[in-house]
Amino acid sequence: MNIVSDPRVMQREAEKLRLAGKRLAVVPTMGALHEGHCTLLREARKHADCVIVTVFVNPAQFGEGEDFARYPRDLPADTARAAEAGADLLFSPDAAAMYGDGYQTFVTVEQVAKPLEGALRPIHFRGVATVVAKLFHLTKPHVAVFGQKDAQQVVVISRMVKDLDFDCELIIVPTVRESDGLARSSRNVYLTPAQRKEAPVLYASLKGAADAVANGERSAAPLTAAIRAAITSRTSGTIDYVSVADGDTLRELAALEHGQHILVSLAVKFGTTRLIDNIPLTVA
Ligand code: AMP
Repeated sequence: MNIVSDPRVMQREAEKLRLAGKRLAVVPTMGALHEGHCTLLREARKHADCVIVTVFVNPAQFGEGEDFARYPRDLPADTARAAEAGADLLFSPDAAAMYGDGYQTFVTVEQVAKPLEGALRPIHFRGVATVVAKLFHLTKPHVAVFGQKDAQQVVVISRMVKDLDFDCELIIVPTVRESDGLARSSRNVYLTPAQRKEAPVLYASLKGAADAVANGERSAAPLTAAIRAAITSRTSGTIDYVSVADGDTLRELAALEHGQHILVSLAVKFGTTRLIDNIPLTVA
């Protein structure tokens, strides 16, 4: 596996591969690679001759007081995992190379970046959209692979790709989970053993909502109430939000309609560790 840290070298390499007729896939990550990321890499392999994984803890998407400084970083382990999962090139720039002196250009996706995560993390999606745009320019992908785990990120990036005419196909991989249902996340390592035991309640409560919809529930209020009750009664977590929203616009819903794509999502803090999860549904 080829390892590149200089953005200009990355861009020249991508151009060379394109000129040689290769189909390129990129999987953007912040490292601390786990089985979720590896599933994205294996999916990318199915769509491309050359799989590029980017490892970059992007300062622009972390707000003040968030976990940028303590975000887990382990490039040697990531390199081994990425190679094992079939990546051909690992691009790992440093922050100074991505955001040089005088940097002042950002991509702002408007409405879909505002609710949910955006309401609590006001600069987050500006940082995400900006870095993904930059990574697309540097890696020149035909295909980019993202995880459903970060549902709002998928909506924001899809909007950006459409609005800014990126010539790149997006592939979305379903959330990869531990055997007890907890969504795999680089942040799970922060959980204490007691919090780790409680955390599967998040997915169980989302599944409860999905089952209720499958059984005919068409109001959002009882769904969010049941999720909140499960989390409050069975965990020590503090709820940031529980949402039933339109899957495309992310507008909060009161009533669900036949054929509608909806997103049931939540964010819960366990101490200083914030976990997010979601289930996308189509109303029968
Ligand atoms: P991150 O390194 O957390 O920024 O994630 C990089 C990519 O991996 C994003 O597209 C995430 O949505 C995706 N990802 C992270 N965890 C999972 C998971 N458990 N299942 C599927 N995709 C994931």
